[in-house]
Amino acid sequence: MTAHPTVLIVGSGPTGATYARVLLEQVPSATVLMVEAGPVITSPPGMNVKNIPSADEQAAARLASQGRAGEAGVSGIPGGVVVEGTITARQGTHLIGRAAEGSPGMPAAAVATCVGGQGAHWTCATPRPAGSERITFVDEAEWDEHVATAEGLLHVNKAAFGDSPQAAAILERVREEFAADGIAVRPLPVAADPRPDGTLRWSGTDVVLCPVLDDPRFTLRPETLCVRLVRDGDRVVGAVLRDLSSGVEEEVRADAVVVAADAIRTPQLLWASGIRPAALGRYLTEHPLVFGVVAVREGLLPSQQGVATPVDPIRAVVSIGYDEERHPYHAQLMYSPVCPVPLPEDSPHRDNPAGYVGMGWGVRKWPRPEDRLFFDDEQPDENGLPSIRIAYELTEREHAELERARAHQARAAAALGEFVTGTPVLMPAGSSLHYMGTVRMGPADDGTCVCDPWSRVWGLSGLVLAGNGLIPTANSCNPTLTSVALAVRGARALAAELRDARVVGARP
Ligand SMILES: Cc1cc2nc3c(=O)[nH]c(=O)nc-3n(C[C@H](O)[C@H](O)[C@H](O)COP(=O)(O)OP(=O)(O)OC[C@H]3O[C@@H](n4cnc5c(N)ncnc54)[C@H](O)[C@@H]3O)c2cc1C
Repeated sequence: MTAHPTVLIVGSGPTGATYARVLLEQVPSATVLMVEAGPVITSPPGMNVKNIPSADEQAAARLASQGRAGEAGVSGIPGGVVVEGTITARQGTHLIGRAAEGSPGMPAAAVATCVGGQGAHWTCATPRPAGSERITFVDEAEWDEHVATAEGLLHVNKAAFGDSPQAAAILERVREEFAADGIAVRPLPVAADPRPDGTLRWSGTDVVLCPVLDDPRFTLRPETLCVRLVRDGDRVVGAVLRDLSSGVEEEVRADAVVVAADAIRTPQLLWASGIRPAALGRYLTEHPLVFGVVAVREGLLPSQQGVATPVDPIRAVVSIGYDEERHPYHAQLMYSPVCPVPLPEDSPHRDNPAGYVGMGWGVRKWPRPEDRLFFDDEQPDENGLPSIRIAYELTEREHAELERARAHQARAAAALGEFVTGTPVLMPAGSSLHYMGTVRMGPADDGTCVCDPWSRVWGLSGLVLAGNGLIPTANSCNPTLTSVALAVRGARALAAELRDARVVGARP
């Protein structure tokens, strides 16, 4: 360990950015190199593309995040294009992984490749995990403090659209519906800052990253792929990086490497580096998702004049919270005067004067070792890394939970209006974009987890992981707040190690 420790961070999403921020704040002598496979797509880097005022420029930024193979991206589809009978990635993302033999796989699994990662495209819903979603082996008081820090980093706003009469009316109506059940209905916490005109500036990764961008100790290298981690015995000492514009590779040394390359590509990189603990890529979960759009009944809401903006029409966000017994899932409702899904020409719900509420119920998926990623060294992907196959199936337990969620969703829908043609639907596996468990943390190195409670890979020093892949629980909560909180915890522990070389490799 040198007096001026260097840290390499792979991936520029919210969790990688959290490591950069905390380490530079807490270790004055440290320098940080962050590498990102994708390009810079916004100014400032990592901004949420929803804040770009021009719809055309938004579309261009999304397209630029969809991978490098071909003009339309690897498998992302340009805005407005619908290909009958196919599953496409959400704009800004590109599909990843194929189904493993004999498994339906996760046909809608997708990732974003750009500075800011998925954090340049996310919806910004940031409820706190509750009940059995909580990670039991992290002390509760300490956890609450990490979550509060994460909320500060992400600019979480718990009273978004507080002045909007439409938001108040929707909240009230849904609250009435569930009052007798004791289910909490409140404004959905979202990562966003209010603007004077009543709209929101949605947080991207920029809100975490920007304070360090001008720090001379920080370097961001976009369009640079980490192809392999370099080991010296049981210590990771650096990585091989490829400049994607020139194809040139170089080996970079670091005192610590943080891999924050999403829940699918982090285990892929470990596998490619010969780091293959038994639980790597296993226990894959997401939120099986029932999504519907309700055409709001006329007369239910006050007039909606004067608030809409064509590129960001969201005007109200409502959360129906998690309750272990009565409502064991998170639901989010978003109101917009514009329908969020394309409607057929003959749909009676086109141009609904009272607007639309998109409502998603994401349920828990219980972790099982057989829901997993496979990595195939023989068949490399477009980057020469082992290709990815996915084995994933819902069990009766999730199907039962989905039935229950549908009943709650139907009640919320009836309270507000009626479902538009073609919804609600059970979205194809992978649609949540919240993949978890693939590098899960655990309290003991017992073969069922990859990382210790401070996000360090068991049995190796110098290597820390970040992102949703760490989450070990059956979690229905949008995961970014949790993952940023885990990154705060891991970064503080790493900062302590870097500040005091005597404890390098020691476990607190
Ligand atoms: C449309 C959309 C809506 C969403 N809505 C929500 C929401 O409302 N609430 C919520 O909690 N979450 C939401 N999410 C998910 C959220 O964005 C992610 O949880 C979050 O971005 C994860 O952060 P991360 O830093 O772990 O990874 P990411 O943001 O995925 O960033 C990982 C980065 O690593 C880079 N990378 C991968 N491999 C390599 C490599 N080998 N070398 C160099 N770079 C590499 C990738 O290009 C990527 O930029 C949404 C996502 C999308 C796309």
